[in-house]
Amino acid sequence: MKINNDVIEAIGHTPLIKLKRASEETGCTILGKAEFMNPGQSVKDRAGKWMILEAEKRGDLKPGGLVVEATAGNTGIGLAVVASARGYRTLILIPETQSQEKKDMLRLCGAELVEVPALPYSNPNNYQHVGKRLAERLRKSEPNGVLFADQWNNLDNAKAHYESTGPEIWEQTNGKVDGFICSVGTGGTLAGTSRYLKEKNKGITIACADPHGFAMYELFKHGVAKSTPGDSITEGIGLGRVTPVIETAEVDDAFLIADEEAVKVIYELLEHEGLCLGGSTGINVAGAIRLAKQLGPGHTIVTILCDSGNRYQSKLFNPAFMRSKNLPVPEWLEKRSKIEL
Ligand code: PMP
Repeated sequence: MKINNDVIEAIGHTPLIKLKRASEETGCTILGKAEFMNPGQSVKDRAGKWMILEAEKRGDLKPGGLVVEATAGNTGIGLAVVASARGYRTLILIPETQSQEKKDMLRLCGAELVEVPALPYSNPNNYQHVGKRLAERLRKSEPNGVLFADQWNNLDNAKAHYESTGPEIWEQTNGKVDGFICSVGTGGTLAGTSRYLKEKNKGITIACADPHGFAMYELFKHGVAKSTPGDSITEGIGLGRVTPVIETAEVDDAFLIADEEAVKVIYELLEHEGLCLGGSTGINVAGAIRLAKQLGPGHTIVTILCDSGNRYQSKLFNPAFMRSKNLPVPEWLEKRSKIEL
């Protein structure tokens, strides 16, 4: 293996891991791209890398500059990792409902954190609007300039996956991939990966897995961005509108996944396969199982293992929290978890 010159070069090139039980259950080969193995431990390191390096190329970032972003956490961590390796500072706006572990990690990575109330996008004080306004205000006083990363509108976010995730999946499977499925936060992963894979082979089925309470299922299933009823404990995913990034995705089908179905998969992967993963990965793997059943035995399906369960010890792996959400808790988790609500 080659030597990386810095942490930025170590982003990506993640392994594909065969998910045994999902594969056995469906007669397909279901593969998970191990994005939790990135330096900042999530799929969003790729977006952080591309958004910063492309801004540098355009001359939008100068040494000592400030990177501002609104994020559920993982994009902020990815940006903070890349920014610190390049000599920039980061200021992150995060809804206060996001996990403590992600907030702690952001501070540890050197980001300045501003926690704001979790409000719907339609509210002018939603974190994404506050982030934009704050970036504009800081532009006047920051001597070395401000980059507002703006992941929902920034096409470099999807470019990261068009230039890295897609090609890696194609090469790792020797082009023998029949389906790709993942959930949507900004849609960067789905848009960039789908565009690359479709360019290689139009016949690959691309699908979106959506939790309850968001608009991607209706958008890709029926062409209208209408939210489904309900809600979800998953973090980092769920989009309620069409954005410039998601508009570029090439999607054939969609699956609506309930939290009960997703967390069952997450607990089984930890109990039987040694994989400790976050809630959005549960939506993805449950979606991959549904897609596999639809395509029939013998197919190869790839999905994304977005981040580590470590980031959700206080929620997904906390029996008291799960009970408070009326979600099932396996007996073994009661014994293993030390965290109280
Ligand atoms: N899973 C997690 C845990 C995330 O934080 C994110 C990004 N917000 C995603 C999935 C979705 O990634 P994308 O923004 O590329 O749609």
